[in-house]
Amino acid sequence: MKYSLKTKLTMSYILVAFVCIFLLSICANIFLEKYFTDYVATNQEQKNQDIVATLSSQYSHNNGWNSDVVAIIGINALESGTIMKILDQTGNVIWDATTHNNGMCQGIVLQMAQNMNGITPFFKGEYTEVPYAIYSGTEVVGQAFIGVYGPYYLNDTDLAFIATLNKFIGIVAIISLIFSFILGTIMARKLSMPIIKVINSAQMISKGFYLDRISQKSTTKEMDQLTITINDMAQSLEKQDQLRKRLTSDVSHELRTPLATLQSHLEAMMDGIWEPNKERLASCHEEVTRINKMVGDLEQLTKFESDNLVLNTSNFDIASLIQRTVGNFETDFSLKNITVDVKVEPCTIRADRDKITQVLINLISNAIKFTLENGIIEIKTICLSETIRIIINDNGIGISKAEQPLVFERFYRTDQSRTRHTGGSGIGLTIVKSIVEAHHGKVELVSEEGKGSQFVVILPIN
Ligand code: ADP
Repeated sequence: MKYSLKTKLTMSYILVAFVCIFLLSICANIFLEKYFTDYVATNQEQKNQDIVATLSSQYSHNNGWNSDVVAIIGINALESGTIMKILDQTGNVIWDATTHNNGMCQGIVLQMAQNMNGITPFFKGEYTEVPYAIYSGTEVVGQAFIGVYGPYYLNDTDLAFIATLNKFIGIVAIISLIFSFILGTIMARKLSMPIIKVINSAQMISKGFYLDRISQKSTTKEMDQLTITINDMAQSLEKQDQLRKRLTSDVSHELRTPLATLQSHLEAMMDGIWEPNKERLASCHEEVTRINKMVGDLEQLTKFESDNLVLNTSNFDIASLIQRTVGNFETDFSLKNITVDVKVEPCTIRADRDKITQVLINLISNAIKFTLENGIIEIKTICLSETIRIIINDNGIGISKAEQPLVFERFYRTDQSRTRHTGGSGIGLTIVKSIVEAHHGKVELVSEEGKGSQFVVILPIN
């Protein structure tokens, strides 16, 4: 069974209120059981002592027992619900409530039993007569038997007090429950409204409407974080979508030219307009090779540019990796008579060795491609405490200021490289950037047209 957030929150508020009321009533009952009954019993005892004190002072005042005065004291006590019997020092009864008004006495005892059994039917109490000695100075001059209902007795006033207390708890309970219901509903609405908005936006995003963003601000920290996360997700999905669309259009655009050339060449030959001689077939072959290379590059691109590029990291010395990679280009250097100056210091980094090798290959092969004959290529490293800088410097054709931010884009080739037919497809630097960023590093480019370029790869050591 699934409940809405609103129901759950409202129910939990009510539950909390309910538990509080329950605890409050338990505490109140413990208080009644322990302190209030003690207080009532002490009060009763005090009342009895007061009666005994009145009887003593009557004896001392009259210098003996005055049955009329004793009767008045007895009747007063009886009227306030106390049954007693007073004996003199020889044991003769001076006054007895049961003799005075037996019916009233029985009524009082019955009332006491009713009161106490009314609170709880399991109350074990009984009516007893407690003897109190009556003194005149230090001499015992009589005895008073005062009727008490034990272990304690709650009279009508006490019961009214308890009833008021319980009524009060009941009212508090009802108010708390109503209040918790209202508060729960308001809070639930406050919380669920932004969640519903987030759900709606997430649903729109899942349907491909990536431009949808949640603008609603919430006072709840977690809600704000959720909104930010959903917006970020929408942004990254939007970016992915744009990349996918752009890749498709880029690829078709890049393939169209060689395919069109190939098609027109072949048609011309088939229609007999052109002789299928060696040069023309070679030109067709060149176009096919271009297409083939482009497909290969695309394969590489999907491998390296995917956002979930998996890094297989290990510790290795970057200096020896650079030396080895430079060594593999020896023939290319000598073909163009390029001077290579390698100044690398030993530095162990934690990274994906194969992918870093790919970065070096792409940057060095570019440097060779875009450096003129007899040029100079410098490769050096600067090992800092947390990062390493790999600098690849050439004195080649350089890149204009306007084109510098574009060279890392997919399939981007500068006009210079296009006119020179360097043969690239413009994805080498895209791969470099993507690998370096997957390592939480960055690539910087400083270049001046006609003077040369400097690519700096900054990688964290760990
Ligand atoms: P390509 O396969 O064309 O070399 P890249 O992505 O590696 O693709 O480079 C993109 C473009 O950036 C190149 O076509 C070239 O115009 C320019 N470029 C890259 N490296 C250099 C360099 N060292 N000197 C001058 N231009 C460069």
